Amino acid sequence: MTTRLDPDLSRRRFLKAASGALMAAPLASTASRTISTQVPNIKLPEVPGKRLGWALVGLGNLSINQIMPAFAKCQQSKLVGFVSGRPEKAKQLAQVYGVDPKNIYTYDNYDTVANNPEVDVIYVVLPNSMHPEYTIRALKAGKHVLCEKPMANTPQECEQMIAAARAANRKLMIGYRVRYEPFNQTMIKMAQDTTEMGPTRVILADAGFNIGDPTQWRLRKAMAGGGSLMDIGIYALNAARYLSGEEPIEVNAMMHSTPNDPRFAEVEENINFQLRFPGGILANCTSSYGVNLGRFRVFKPRGSFELDPASSYTGLRMRVFRGGTTEERTLPQRDHFALEMDHFSASVMNNTEPLTPGEEGLKDLKVMMAIYEAARSGRTVKL
Ligand code: NDP
Repeated sequence: MTTRLDPDLSRRRFLKAASGALMAAPLASTASRTISTQVPNIKLPEVPGKRLGWALVGLGNLSINQIMPAFAKCQQSKLVGFVSGRPEKAKQLAQVYGVDPKNIYTYDNYDTVANNPEVDVIYVVLPNSMHPEYTIRALKAGKHVLCEKPMANTPQECEQMIAAARAANRKLMIGYRVRYEPFNQTMIKMAQDTTEMGPTRVILADAGFNIGDPTQWRLRKAMAGGGSLMDIGIYALNAARYLSGEEPIEVNAMMHSTPNDPRFAEVEENINFQLRFPGGILANCTSSYGVNLGRFRVFKPRGSFELDPASSYTGLRMRVFRGGTTEERTLPQRDHFALEMDHFSASVMNNTEPLTPGEEGLKDLKVMMAIYEAARSGRTVKL
């Protein structure tokens, strides 16, 4: 997830995508002419509905490798702008994705996006410490904001972002993409249904990967806010909260980083935490920058079920364990980012509350602060 983009590779990919798009356009129009003359009664696709215009802030790995391609699968969102510190890269990407060069901004002239009616939504995909400033500036410019997780490095900053959205009368959503895809959504329904296997008693949620380059911002405390917990363990925490459907009331935690590993000079490698929920559910969670992990499992009196992988971009799997049998559930594999962006566009267009608003990001930040406090003090922290 953190692999740096090789500029040559990326250039080749852009050129390939661009030439593919150029070749596909005349083919598509020829094909549609042929079909409409040969098959007069063919049902034409419906005229697409309104799409909101989106601008991405920060053209790094996530933006380039996941979010930009996801627009092709969106029904209600289109890519219209970029904000970047590297204008050449932005121009090159604009050519590939058909973004009007007049909609390319720098971090300095970012605020002038206020005068651009083509941009409805700003998607903040910057290092964590930059989320509050670029979210608040976008809200002040009158734009709705989808901000990547973690929402910010402190709960106080989250509160400022929520207040800015209220003051601007604009919507703010946090990028918890797995909440919008079928496997996690099915898992939530199964976890909260008591008829088949009984009530949820225990949740295991693990998330981690073996982080590379020791010089990256994710390993600088000032930019990342913390280590694996802020970046990847947040998936385990968020899952424990959405699978239980409750907010934790107590936290225990233990932390360990491999001594002398230059990657962990400032932030933690591994942090395990336990959560107690008011209805009696206990969750055991692991967060790691040292090993690959990605599993959520729910235990009930008459069976259990798991997602493994649970939070990867693709290839999620669900298995249900009951009475000594294992059943694999087949569910549609969907693009998480397309679903997430369309959800937010729909929330804006219909003036409804998004599923993961700023308040959701704030809740995770508060629990993460308690997890760090529990790990440092060796005591149970009450929330
Ligand atoms: P990258 O480091 O790959 O990209 C961050 C981009 O931010 C850079 O390419 C750069 O864009 C811009 N930037 C501006 N200032 C700085 C700076 N001082 N140092 C580094 N970058 C800077 O990060 P990711 O794309 O992996 O992550 C971005 C955000 O997305 C993070 O908050 C992360 O937690 C989140 N994320 C979420 C995932 C998910 O599944 N929801 C997965 C991965 C990340 P430019 O050159 O255009 O200015």
